[in-house]
Amino acid sequence: MIDIEQLRSEFPILATEVNGHPLTYFDNGATNQKPQSVIDALSEYYKGYNSNVHRGAHSLADKATQAFEQTRELLQQFVNAPKSEQIIFTKGTTEGINLVANTYGRANIQAGDEIIVTTMEHHSNIVPWQMIAQEKGATVRNIPISDEGEIIFEEFEKMLSDKVKIVSVVHASNALGTVNPVEKIIEKAHEIGAVVLVDGAQSAAHLPIDVQALDCDFFVTSAHKMFGPTGMGFLYGKEEILNDMPPFMGGGEMIKEVSFDGTTFNTLPYKFEAGTPNIADTVAYAKAVEFINRYGKENIAAREKELLDYATKKLIEEVPTAKIIGTSSNKVSVLSFIIDNIHNYDIGMMLDARGIAVRTGHHCTQPLMARYGLEGTVRASFSVYNTFEEIDKFIEALKRIVKMFG
Ligand code: PLP
Repeated sequence: MIDIEQLRSEFPILATEVNGHPLTYFDNGATNQKPQSVIDALSEYYKGYNSNVHRGAHSLADKATQAFEQTRELLQQFVNAPKSEQIIFTKGTTEGINLVANTYGRANIQAGDEIIVTTMEHHSNIVPWQMIAQEKGATVRNIPISDEGEIIFEEFEKMLSDKVKIVSVVHASNALGTVNPVEKIIEKAHEIGAVVLVDGAQSAAHLPIDVQALDCDFFVTSAHKMFGPTGMGFLYGKEEILNDMPPFMGGGEMIKEVSFDGTTFNTLPYKFEAGTPNIADTVAYAKAVEFINRYGKENIAAREKELLDYATKKLIEEVPTAKIIGTSSNKVSVLSFIIDNIHNYDIGMMLDARGIAVRTGHHCTQPLMARYGLEGTVRASFSVYNTFEEIDKFIEALKRIVKMFG
């Protein structure tokens, strides 16, 4: 069992105040907070061994390269990838999806083809596909969802045909919390020869990820939603697919040899890592993965589920004018809701005045909001370091807001 006080003490920001109140941070879906080990790793790199990677014939460059490559190995183990070369560092989920759309997508999608996503996608798993579809004369289709916020699997099955080249689905929805049945989706998509990308932005820190068991073709995520730094993430891909894909960006590191007669490209993973990478954040990312491993993802997930169940029950019982959006029984710790006659922005601002940080608005999922006929919701998303007392405070604050508007 996790010692929550001890775990919380690793996060300096949790001891701060916002608007004269102790910070209650319920915006973990947007980005979660960083333990001291991650913060220290950034300054230790700059203070002790700042150097470019893979290039210098000197000790600092060796040390930086070793730390940098160690993160790749940790991530390989974290998602059970067969080889560390299959872990491509990116700026995050958005870049990972754009990379696949612009390389695999551009090489394999033709006029008349179809790309399938779900209605609950984040904009970053819609727009890159729309851009490539427009260029190629292909179509992006979306799997409809039920009122509870689950994909309607039979509808997905009906959409499958030999026109479908890519199925790109969110593992866990940032706006609803729903965990999608990605194993089943992958199996069905493979039957018709489509490749599958799993958007793991909201799942990597909360659900077990085994890319070999899932058999996904691509998996992408962001470090900053895993207790790690911003502007950092990775793409996992199957080796043959990555090898066949053209490079994404051209520049240093991604080449074997350059001449004016032509250029040959580097092997994996460097073929997709042009330019000086985000070394400090990559090195610090290892500390975030170590943090998750140290406490155990299962323990973290169990704690987050308890927090979600507690908050859900309290919201239903104590704020009867609240309506939860996303009521699947299989959710990550996201509680999205609206309250009759009170705008989500007003709720967010009034919670903020009490030091409670939530997200309001469309959560970069406008098509999903349109599905529910909403402009936005209030989203409280919990992390392992949150407490039941914080939830009590949040519910009390909501009750006060409802009374004020009543
Ligand atoms: N996909 C999902 C489900 C997300 O929640 C997010 C971020 O909120 C993204 C993609 C984009 O992630 P990033 O902004 O880190 O690239």
